Order: sequence, then structure tokens, then C-alpha cells
Amino acid sequence: MKDAHGRTIDYLRISLTDRCNLRCVYCMPADGIAQVAHDDVLRYDEIVRLVSVAAQMGVRRVRLTGGEPLVRKGVVDLVRAVAQVPGIEDVSLTTNGIALARMAEGLHDAGLHRVNVSLDTLDPADFRAITRGGDVNQVLAGIDAALAVGFNPVKVNAVAVRSLHQDYFRFALLSVEKPLHVRFIEYMPVGDSAGCGGAGWGPEDVIPCDEIRQIINDRCAQEGLEGLVPVDDSHKPTGGGPARYYQFPGALGTVGFISPLSRHFCGDCNRLRITSTGGLRPCLFSDSELDLRSVLREGSDDEVRAVLARALHTKPEEHEELDHARATETNMNAIGG
Ligand code: SAM
Ligand code: SF4
Repeated sequence: MKDAHGRTIDYLRISLTDRCNLRCVYCMPADGIAQVAHDDVLRYDEIVRLVSVAAQMGVRRVRLTGGEPLVRKGVVDLVRAVAQVPGIEDVSLTTNGIALARMAEGLHDAGLHRVNVSLDTLDPADFRAITRGGDVNQVLAGIDAALAVGFNPVKVNAVAVRSLHQDYFRFALLSVEKPLHVRFIEYMPVGDSAGCGGAGWGPEDVIPCDEIRQIINDRCAQEGLEGLVPVDDSHKPTGGGPARYYQFPGALGTVGFISPLSRHFCGDCNRLRITSTGGLRPCLFSDSELDLRSVLREGSDDEVRAVLARALHTKPEEHEELDHARATETNMNAIGG
């Protein structure tokens, strides 16, 4: 599929649910979200049909996200069904890792071969504060389980927020002894959580990835270690997406930087997003949404195709400059990141 600006669109990100077993301050309000009626959420058979139609149009990769995808019942069966859709070459999943230790093997057997785990800090108290109650050890156990059952690559994504004072150096070192691909993602002040459930963060909390890399390299210099070196294309992890990758010399994994704000990567954007209620979003930074659910429920495959084609036509060439907080009012848990 090509969009109106000549970009190849071969990647669908599908949110399975708005619900989550955590309440990260930058993503969800403290008291959770308004319940979405069960009927409004896409059923698994609808998702599989959508993926089949999209695959006929050229989609090759699907990422399942949320909310927390692992809290949705039967997710292993969905993974199996999506992985079997003709034309789909790659199924991946983004999770907070809380349930991963117990589910890793089943997911892997079902055809999921790579996973992204979101983790912003290794400090138990900071993790509890960011996630409003989570236990970092469960996530670390999930990451180890993912490596043990053979997920490859396993990426660990940290949202960098200036006010959080994260220890980027310590975090990046996760990539040294284990084949983990640590990635720092610039915080996006979007959604009605742009006020961040009281945390009060805004655009000033965006910390550009170049600054994070500099902080890591400065610490390396202080500790007498060699700093990060760029990774050539052949050593980048599969599904690298818009990240720029580096590595500590001799490390088993890599350190990546994703800069949605400081460096637009709209020119390489290859994706469409589906919300849990079947809204088709051409751009992460816009609330513009097409209704897929009703055509999946009442329409033919051709009509589903037509909605996908319309999304390709309306996909913006690039998102607007900040203030992104104004660009979208929807919380990240509803879009899936
Ligand atoms: N629950 C899963 C998880 O946390 O990985 C999947 C959904 S979550 C919305 C997807 C990703 O979006 C996570 O990596 C999360 O850290 C990121 N995210 C949420 N809100 C964000 C924000 N305001 N800016 C940047 N990333 C954000
Ligand atoms: Fe849940 Fe993921 Fe949002 Fe955190 S970032 S509240 S884990 S959906």
C-alpha cells in the first residue's frame, strides 16, 4: 500500500484494549479510564478479518498493543490467528511486562517471535511511582522469561521524561550482558494526560535523545569506559523502526534512540493505527479517525478495503510542530503508542 505521499504502508498497530493493570502517569489518569462497553471493542474475529484484508493490500507486519494487551482474555489465541494470516510475516507485541513471565512461552509457541517491553526505570520506588503501584521485579522477570523462551529481539523501551531524573547510563547498561535492545523514547506530551494526572509535565519535559546519548557518553568517560558507537544496518534489531542504534563495544545488545519530537521521522512512517474500538488513525499525533468497526460489522471486504484506502489518502505528510498537547486529546492508552 502506498499513501498519498508515496510512503509504503505495510505495518498495522492494533490496540486490543484500553484497559491496563498499571496506571503510568504519562499515559492514564490515576483513577483509570471510563469503561468502554464490551460491544464497542473489536472482537478477535473482526481483528483477524481486518488483518486479512490489510494483508491482501500489502500489510506485512502487525503489532498488538493497548492498554495492556496481555490483560485481554484469549490474547494467545489471537496471536496464533494473526500469525497464520497469509501474507503476514511478522507479529509483535508491546507490553508492560507484568504478565510476561507467565505468558511468554505460550505467546512464543503461538507465533509471536519478538516483543517490546516498556520499562522506564530499574529503581523499584521510582517504578512504583511512575506506574502508580507496579512491581519492577515482575517486569524484570518477564524480560528474562522472554529471553529464555527465545524471543528475538527483545526490546526494552523507556520513555524519557526530564522531571523523572532517570539514570540513563545504568539503564543503557542492560544491553551489555544480555542481548537486550534498550531504546529511549522522547516523552510525548499528548492526551488529556498531558497534564499527567497531576504530575504537571509539559513540553519542557521532553528531553531530546541527543542529550540522553551525551549524558550516557559523559558517564562512560567518567567511568573510564568506551562510549556508544553507531551500529551498522546489518546489526540493527529486526523491526528497528525509526530508532537510531548504538552499542557499547562488545555488548550483546544495542541502545536505540527514538526521537518523534526532536527529529521528525514522518517521512519514513509506514504505519496505520487501530484503536481498540475499531477507529483507524492515520497519524499518532492527530485525533482524526475513521470508523472501521461498523464496516467490519456490516460491510463487505471491499468496504473495509475502501476505509483503509481512505486512511492512506488522509495520512498527513508530517505531524504538526509542538504544541502536540493540542494536537490530540486522546490518552496514549487508547492509541497504543
Ligand atoms: N501497556 C503496554 C506498554 O506499556 O508497553 C502497551 C501500550 S503503551 C500505551 C505503549 C507505549 O506507549 C509504552 O511504551 C509507553 O511507555 C508509551 N507511552 C505512553 N504514553 C506516552 C507518552 N505520553 N509519551 C511517550 N510514550 C508514551
Ligand atoms: Fe498501561 Fe502501558 Fe499506559 Fe503504562 S503505558 S498505563 S502500562 S497502557
